[in-house]
Amino acid sequence: MKFSDFFGFSQILMTDLTPNAVAHKIRPSGTAVMPQNNLHLQRVFSDAFRHLDPKGRRFRLSGAEIEVRFYPYAGLHHTIRVRSGRVYVRLSDIFDSAPPEVIRALAFLLVARLLSRKAPPTHEKIYRAYAFSPDVLRASDIARQARGRKVISTARGKAYDLDELFARLNRRHFDDQLEKPILTWSKRRAKRILGHHDSVHDTITISKALDSRDVPEWFVEYILYHEMLHIKHPAKIINGRRYYHTPAFRSEEQRFPRYQASQDWLDRVVRKNRELRARAA
Ligand SMILES: [Zn+2]
Repeated sequence: MKFSDFFGFSQILMTDLTPNAVAHKIRPSGTAVMPQNNLHLQRVFSDAFRHLDPKGRRFRLSGAEIEVRFYPYAGLHHTIRVRSGRVYVRLSDIFDSAPPEVIRALAFLLVARLLSRKAPPTHEKIYRAYAFSPDVLRASDIARQARGRKVISTARGKAYDLDELFARLNRRHFDDQLEKPILTWSKRRAKRILGHHDSVHDTITISKALDSRDVPEWFVEYILYHEMLHIKHPAKIINGRRYYHTPAFRSEEQRFPRYQASQDWLDRVVRKNRELRARAA
């Protein structure tokens, strides 16, 4: 079992740009999936904190400050870290069908690690029995092979560095409070989907078409800012429908300093694409 340090992930995984991706104005219907079982996982982890740190000496947590997600790591890998009083847990998605007692054991191991405490040996045993079972080992080998090879894209483009832009926007608009997702340029120069936030894989993908000095920096910032707002404002479910661009989202989006110029640029991009398509037809 490997644990990351508290500074972030060393790997950048490329996730697929699905055709139904949230498409922002240009194609406004979204199908991003909300994290599954989040409440249950949250409870398991806050339970582990209660057991291992009963007086709340290290962390005073109500449970709401714990975020747990499955994550498509290459290989078997889990991380836990603390940032601004919030706990972020990423569990290998190989474990997304693990029995509850295994998840519980893993929660204890991770929280113990975070608290620099020894984990109860029973949990270690339960975790290892599962993690080293033939099926899980095989799944983890497959993930390592398939995903290891997919480490192809980076946040640093030819013209713009998404890590830099993210840090700047986080400081300027989010009080540095936004947890950094995986940031990556898309593999292809997608023209219709300029940005995409995938909450399951905690990834923001920006179209490589924007990684050019012909595109003003503030426009790339705007697209990234829009995707960052999706992290801050998770989709709302009303009558079984998901709403991504809620009024709160929109009003915050309009606070972007060059909002109107960005809308104009967006219109130009859309119009250009329409013309391209018309010419091709
Ligand atoms: Zn959007």
